[in-house]
Amino acid sequence: MTNKKLIVITGASSGFGAEIAKLFNVAGNPLLLIGRNIKRMEALPLDFQNVMLAQVDVTNLEDFTASVRAAEAKFGPTDLLVNNAGVMLLGNVENQSAHEWQTMLDTNVMGVLNGTQVVLQNMIDRQGGTIINMSSIAGFKAFTNHAAYVASKFGVHGATETIRQEVASKNVRISLVAPGAAETDLLTHVTSASALSDYQAWKESMGGLTLDPKYVAQTVKYIYDMPQAVEIREVSIAATRQDA
Ligand code: NDP
Repeated sequence: MTNKKLIVITGASSGFGAEIAKLFNVAGNPLLLIGRNIKRMEALPLDFQNVMLAQVDVTNLEDFTASVRAAEAKFGPTDLLVNNAGVMLLGNVENQSAHEWQTMLDTNVMGVLNGTQVVLQNMIDRQGGTIINMSSIAGFKAFTNHAAYVASKFGVHGATETIRQEVASKNVRISLVAPGAAETDLLTHVTSASALSDYQAWKESMGGLTLDPKYVAQTVKYIYDMPQAVEIREVSIAATRQDA
């Protein structure tokens, strides 16, 4: 049994979440990995000795709570929650479906609020713990064809800073990571062909390659590894060639 503390990562089945899981697995932390696609999580290159997997949709508070309580019963209180699960369904507000807006707002905003509520009281009670929310450069800056996504990520920024102020005196840290475009599965869910081709053209203008997700994972770990008395409030990280 490790003496390292429990880390909960949402959206661990691919992209940033999978890279974050790999890094903390090597560091020896017990992990609870949350996502809907359990097979993808089972296939991650991890030492599964201290890893719990939960097939949970972050929009379902009841399931989210139950999975975290089960992991805490085994590994002790959650010391770090990475609210990383998210979706980006590009589209123009003139014709994008309300269903896609709802999916983004539910996952990107409600998912973060749900996760925060699941772990926060215990962190306040023991005056320690860290929450890191995965936002985006689209959380403080507009991008065309991204209206609902931008709305959701501005929401993540606003909620994070509000909660930070509320829990600062309790020695609980809540930080933001705001990446630029990165090489993950995020674009694979976009249904608008024109929004997708605009995005790909933008990406080509950067030389075709964007940010390797492993550097976002390293950023999350760097934030966490600071002493509890030090809070890196926000990091914005993007490919050097990203000009927006
Ligand atoms: P991926 O699509 O590779 O990963 C997204 C993860 O979120 C998957 O593991 C997916 O798992 C999970 N997820 C989505 N919806 C839900 C849900 N309802 N419940 C539980 N898990 C869910 O994309 P990224 O790694 O890029 O995305 C991670 C975060 O980074 C997102 O918040 C995204 O907005 C943000 N981001 C990404 C950028 C990029 O360019 N890639 C740039 C800036 C921010 P599953 O399908 O198994 O549920």
